[in-house]
Amino acid sequence: MSVIVLVEHTGGNIKKKSFEAVQYAAQIAQQTATTVTAVVLGSIADAEMEALGNYGASKVIHIADNRLDELHARAYTTALVNIARAEDSKIIITLYDINGRAVAPRVAAQLKAGIVAGALSYPNLEKGFAIKKSVFSGKAFAWVNVLSDVKVIMLMPNTFQLSKTDGKATIEKQDISFSEKDFGIKVTAVNKVTGEIALTDATLVVSGGRGMKGPENWGLIEDLAKELGAATACSRPVADTHWRPHHEHVGQTGGTIRPDLYIAVGISGAIQHLAGVNGSKTIVVINSDPEAPFFKAANYGVVGDAMAVLPKLTAAVKKFKEQHH
Ligand SMILES: Cc1cc2nc3c(=O)[nH]c(=O)nc-3n(C[C@H](O)[C@H](O)[C@H](O)COP(=O)(O)OP(=O)(O)OC[C@H]3O[C@@H](n4cnc5c(N)ncnc54)[C@H](O)[C@@H]3O)c2cc1C
Repeated sequence: MSVIVLVEHTGGNIKKKSFEAVQYAAQIAQQTATTVTAVVLGSIADAEMEALGNYGASKVIHIADNRLDELHARAYTTALVNIARAEDSKIIITLYDINGRAVAPRVAAQLKAGIVAGALSYPNLEKGFAIKKSVFSGKAFAWVNVLSDVKVIMLMPNTFQLSKTDGKATIEKQDISFSEKDFGIKVTAVNKVTGEIALTDATLVVSGGRGMKGPENWGLIEDLAKELGAATACSRPVADTHWRPHHEHVGQTGGTIRPDLYIAVGISGAIQHLAGVNGSKTIVVINSDPEAPFFKAANYGVVGDAMAVLPKLTAAVKKFKEQHH
């Protein structure tokens, strides 16, 4: 009857957002008087998986098959469905991210489960199984009630603060017999961005728009990001004109991020841009036009020329760090 949660890792390191998913599962397990079983797929060390106990998993099921090191949606689905059936689980949790979006709907279809995509709350059991989620690209909230016996919840990353406990998890190794069809799509090459902070996992993001004038000024964005330990992002025209790679573009047609801090420099704040960033906890806008629409969505605003403001801000962050070390 345990709550099942799919854990993600890159190169054997569990992602912070997966600890959050496990902690979320633990709270639901408590509400429903059961335990959490974390599912880890692919090559990873036992010591890394034990840390899942610190966030509320009592058991980890590890399927060490190295074909699972890369996302194979069908194989991941087979693994989760098999484990959910064996554990007689009624609640399966994934993240609302690229992996979750590829896997959770398939799991829900196979288990005839209702699904909540982008959950922002714990279920309210007094009202059935009601969960708050974001709708219309984050512009509104909806409460949805899941009526099916089995339920799949996709948690919106960076919704809850992590708090570590000294809980322990036992690790159980399992083998699952996959079919050839489970690996029907062959990954021929994986080009990972290295040496930078991955945008989707970043808690701090510095982002630039057309107000940066050209790629020759991008060093100003990178300097601030480096000083803060932040990832960099951009508006769509910046990616369209090849100043920056497309994976950095956020918004309706780009990535959706929910960092703790989003600093938008020379970005007007079009609705299509806001759709990808309006879940950020704190938004700082730097723009030379006091009428720029982004200021309406900002917690803090600086009216000024980015070329003058950025070096000063970077220097101030550097000084602050030196003083507080
Ligand atoms: C279907 C559709 C989907 C879209 N999807 C996306 C999306 O996913 N993401 C996205 O970003 N856009 C998207 N767009 C485009 C969006 O509508 C805007 O055109 C775009 O976000 C504008 O980018 P920008 O703010 O960088 O540029 P601009 O709108 O040109 O704004 C530049 C800003 O920089 C400021 N500025 C100028 N000089 C300086 C300076 N020296 N210092 C400081 N500030 C300065 C200006 O005041 C202005 O506010 C989409 C549009 C459509 C129609």
